Amino acid sequence: MKKDDCIFCKIANGEIPSSTVYEDDDFRVILDIAPAAKGHALILPKEHFANIFELDGVVAGKLFTLATKVAPAIKEEMGCSGLNVVQNNGASAGQTVDHFHLHLIPRNEGDDVSVKWVPKESDPEENAKLAEKIAGRM
Ligand code: 5GP
Ligand code: ZN
Repeated sequence: MKKDDCIFCKIANGEIPSSTVYEDDDFRVILDIAPAAKGHALILPKEHFANIFELDGVVAGKLFTLATKVAPAIKEEMGCSGLNVVQNNGASAGQTVDHFHLHLIPRNEGDDVSVKWVPKESDPEENAKLAEKIAGRM
């Protein structure tokens, strides 16, 4: 289902023009209007899901299959040596458009793109307990 006030619903369904890399019944792949690097693409489902917490599993499977086709095409065209797959959920995680989308960001040594966190220490016992607790909620 589409959401009336959602800009990515409008873009994905062709109501607002975009630089489209690919389109099928379920998805549109576009170039980001304010890219982290040249060739930065977004995979948008045509159906509205706000985030990963709402995303349908079958759509997710198709979406990642599509990502395996788009990523090498970007890599080849941009001649980049790496590529980040980024996906933000919630404002605290950096999500600014509440319609699920997958970022594909070309990367090169020494570029100015930043998607890396500061690694913390972890306690193996605490991690084992935490893993069990999370597993219990799936
Ligand atoms: P988020 O921060 O939600 O993970 O990513 C939203 C992305 O959508 C940003 O990288 C932003 O530049 C891009 N974006 C926002 N509005 C538009 C638009 O109208 N057209 C395109 N092509 N990209 C957009
Ligand atoms: Zn939407």
